[in-house]
Amino acid sequence: MAHAHSVLLDPIRVGSVTLASRIVMGSMHTGLECHPERFDELGRFYAERAKGGAGMIVTGGFAPNFAGRMKNEPGTFERPDQVAHHRKITAPVRAAGGRILLQILHAGRYGYHPAVVAPSPIKSPINRDVPAELTSEQIEETIANYATTARLAIEAGYDGIEIMGSEGYLISEFLAPRTNHRDDRWGGALEDRARFPLAVVRAVRAAIGEGVISYRISALELVEGGLTQEETIWLAKEVEKAGADCLSTGIGWHEAAVPTIAGPVPHAAFIESTQRLKEAVLIPVTASNRINLPGDAAEIIKSGSADLVSMARPLLADAEFASKVGRGRPDLVNVCIACNQACLDHYFTDQVITCLVNPRAARENEFSDAPAPAAKRVAVLGAGVAGIAAALEAARRGHHVTLFEAASRIGGQFALAANIPGKEDYGLSLASYEAQLAEGGVEIRTGVAVDAETLKRSNFDEVIVSTGVAPRPIDIPGGDDPRVVGYSKILDGSVTAGDRVIVIGGGGIGHDVALFLAMESNGRRQTREVFFERWGINGKAKTHAARRQITMVKRSPGAFGRTLGKSTGWILRQELKDMKVRQISDARYVKIDAQGLHIALPDRNEILPFDTLVVCAGQESERRIADTIAANGQSVHVIGGARLAGELDAKRAIYEGATLGNRI
Ligand code: NAP
Ligand code: SF4
Repeated sequence: MAHAHSVLLDPIRVGSVTLASRIVMGSMHTGLECHPERFDELGRFYAERAKGGAGMIVTGGFAPNFAGRMKNEPGTFERPDQVAHHRKITAPVRAAGGRILLQILHAGRYGYHPAVVAPSPIKSPINRDVPAELTSEQIEETIANYATTARLAIEAGYDGIEIMGSEGYLISEFLAPRTNHRDDRWGGALEDRARFPLAVVRAVRAAIGEGVISYRISALELVEGGLTQEETIWLAKEVEKAGADCLSTGIGWHEAAVPTIAGPVPHAAFIESTQRLKEAVLIPVTASNRINLPGDAAEIIKSGSADLVSMARPLLADAEFASKVGRGRPDLVNVCIACNQACLDHYFTDQVITCLVNPRAARENEFSDAPAPAAKRVAVLGAGVAGIAAALEAARRGHHVTLFEAASRIGGQFALAANIPGKEDYGLSLASYEAQLAEGGVEIRTGVAVDAETLKRSNFDEVIVSTGVAPRPIDIPGGDDPRVVGYSKILDGSVTAGDRVIVIGGGGIGHDVALFLAMESNGRRQTREVFFERWGINGKAKTHAARRQITMVKRSPGAFGRTLGKSTGWILRQELKDMKVRQISDARYVKIDAQGLHIALPDRNEILPFDTLVVCAGQESERRIADTIAANGQSVHVIGGARLAGELDAKRAIYEGATLGNRI
């Protein structure tokens, strides 16, 4: 049946195969690529996405040889004895009716190991080691290695290959004058710098016959000395001539000082660069980067900006993205909030990836889909994300769930976060959760602060307490000053801060609140134009100091922001620096009086005058109801912030909720 987004379900021919939808699960390292003994988990993970309607899946990158590995552990696919392992990935995907490409990625100078190689011995700003310059013989061998991997992949049951040619890895390094200073036939003019990638495409084509070749091209480099738009268009045409069946567009090198996939990047921000490539070639072109909503994806196809949409993180967040769209229920798609906390940040810290808003991702085997042996009556107290996750999973197994929330709407800390610039997707995520709860038959009772007695009378079989956290008050003489407010009052808009603001606390929330206050004072919203101007994407970066005078203070010594996310923290630190937010560490709070906040620093005392002082001093568990229920002799499960506030953590809270809901 046709509906607003049904264009996403239109079949499309890519090379020798027909894909059942326009949705591609883009390549993303899972952390399992180096663990063949766990490839059955990878197979299940991808098969769930195939079942959920993804037209094509691209694996995380496998290196064609040892030198091209991403990490110290190999993650290569180069020998016939590895074929059987890969069948554990391809067989379940094929059984689910899916298509899957193996991505070949030579990390070049981005490998996280000392023996990195590159066209020229130029160190990357994001790596410690200077790469060894590849000799001509090694270059020829590397091309042959790509072909071998491609041939083995077909033997293992893949439909084809994606050649990773973007993001600053080896192929980008050959193409860009920034990293290729060679004076032999592999360097010099663009035609010579392109010799390596084009030879790779031809060699892979020769090796796999009719197999599909997707070439990941850098549509926008975002680094000095990268390819220009004209050069990229030339390259796209050459890649097409060399035998690629489709182009998948990548945005920005990993060393680019511009956010490309984090929350502050507006949705589909880079689509024009993709469209330019689409106009230059006849083969299908895939769009990517910050496309996480069915509506945006459908619009890209409808407008002719691209033929396919690649989504990696959104398909982590929801394996059934495409099938929900197919059912005409895009509102049920679990929204990726671009936090990177459980995906990229896991990979960078040597953990297997999963998803903050979908703990099933890459842990499918931990969850049961079988109906519970007996349907129980379950009460969940508190509709923050832990409670929501518990309710959804319990309902999925057939239990009758009532979700109580004292506030007038669901969401807890997520609802507050949705007000922070760059975190607007948290609000979309809650809207989806609301739709999912309704579809799962969960009874939601907002504005109800249920008490232990009522609960006892109601005879629920299981009671889950997910009442979350309360902000920690400060213990500073004068802390009861009316100008002192908790962060939630600032973020929910019930208090508007004055011109001079002190933020106490240097954790994630202190940083978020400082950004909120700075952006609010400048009256700026994160539109595409604001984002492009601020990061200098089409010209020189233009930053604006905050109109408010904002000072962040913390007691511990050392720089601010060390606890922020690995792949996103730098953006927040840079924003606050550019907005001239002052940061003071190693402070002892002496008192608050009419003059301001008195602090003692190691070398001096200072009085910081303020109109508003915002307390972002962490949280304490809000679990009084759990204790009363237990005192009444009723058994109770306590999850999320209510169980442990020490490290308020949405990832843990959702995981706890989901696993408990799935188990009871
Ligand atoms: P947090 O990270 O624990 O930080 C609390 C801050 O309050 C610390 O900087 C601490 O600094 C200060 N503090 C603690 N006790 C205090 C007291 N009694 N008096 C005065 N200051 C005190 O907590 P949060 O900022 O609320 O963040 C909670 C969690 O949310 C984080 O763990 C993070 O996972 C998540 N989060 C992350 C982000 C992000 O990455 N962008 C954003 C929001 C939330 P001193 O001890 O140095 O004074
Ligand atoms: Fe998206 Fe965050 Fe999940 Fe990663 S962890 S897929 S960024 S929601």
